[in-house]
Amino acid sequence: MSENTKVAVVTGAARGIGAATAVRLGREGFAVAVCDLDEAACAATVQAVEKEGARALAVGVDVSDSERVEAAVERIAAELGPPVVLVNNAGILRDNLLFKMSDDDWDAVISVHLRGAFLMTRAVQAHMTKAGWGRIVNLSSTSALGNRGQVNYSAAKAGLQGFTKTLAIELGKFGVTANAIAPGFIATEMTAATAARVGVDFEAFKTAAAEQIPVRRVGTPEDIAGTVAFLVSEDAGFVSGQVVYVAGGPKA
Ligand code: NAP
Repeated sequence: MSENTKVAVVTGAARGIGAATAVRLGREGFAVAVCDLDEAACAATVQAVEKEGARALAVGVDVSDSERVEAAVERIAAELGPPVVLVNNAGILRDNLLFKMSDDDWDAVISVHLRGAFLMTRAVQAHMTKAGWGRIVNLSSTSALGNRGQVNYSAAKAGLQGFTKTLAIELGKFGVTANAIAPGFIATEMTAATAARVGVDFEAFKTAAAEQIPVRRVGTPEDIAGTVAFLVSEDAGFVSGQVVYVAGGPKA
C-alpha cells in the first residue's frame, strides 16, 4: 500500500449507486470509506472493494446527524487516512403529492440529501483544504427539473445543484473541485421500491422507462460510478461547479 494512496468517502455505499461507486474507486486506486446507516450492511461492499486490491473501511453513520458525521470523519482520518474525495450519495424517497405530503416526509428527505451533504462536506473539507487537493461529487437527479409526487426530493436535488456551485466557488482556490451528477432512471432498490409502491412489476417498469430514454435502456449503478471516476480524476481538475446529467439523453 503506497503512502500516497488517496482516501475516498462514499455515503449510502451499502448498496446501489454508492456500492458500485465504492468498488470503482477501489479499482482506481483509492482507499474507500464505505459509509451507510448500518455498519454491518457495508460488509459486502467492503469485501468487493478489497477484491479490487484496495483498502476499505465500513463506517456506520447517519449523514443527517452532526455529531455522528464529525465522529465518522475523525475515525476515517485515523484508520484510513485523511479523506480527499467525498461522494455525497446517501438518499431516501418519501414520495407523495403535495396535498398528501406530511411534515415528516418533507423533513426526512431534505435532512438526508441536503443537510447530510452539508454536514459531510463541512467535515471532510478540512482535510481537502489542508492537502491542497480535493474532489466532491454530489448526487443530484433529473427530478431536480421537477417530478410529480416529489416536491421534497426535487427541492433537495435542485438544492444540491446550488450547493455544488457554491462549493466550487469557495473551495477552488484550495485545489478542490465540486460537481454534481444528475442521474436519470437507474435500476437499484430505490427504483424497485418505486415500482412496488405504484404496483408495477419491476421488469415491466424498467421496460416502460427504457422506451422513454433516447439510448433505449435504463441506467446501471456502474454508469454513475464511471462518471464519478472521471470527476474525481486528475483529468477533471478544470471541471468544477458543473451538473452532469447521466440519463441516456439530454435532460437539462
Ligand atoms: P438506494 O439503493 O436506496 O441506496 C441508498 C443508500 O443510502 C441505502 O443504503 C440507504 O441505507 C442509505 N441511506 C439512507 N439514508 C441514509 C442516511 N441518513 N445516512 C447514511 N446512509 C443513508 O439508492 P440509489 O438508487 O443507489 O441512489 C443513490 C443516490 O442516487 C441517491 O441520492 C438518489 O437520490 C440518487 N439518484 C438515484 C436515482 C435512481 O434512479 N436510482 C436517480 C437519480 C438520483 P438504508 O438501506 O439503511 O436506508
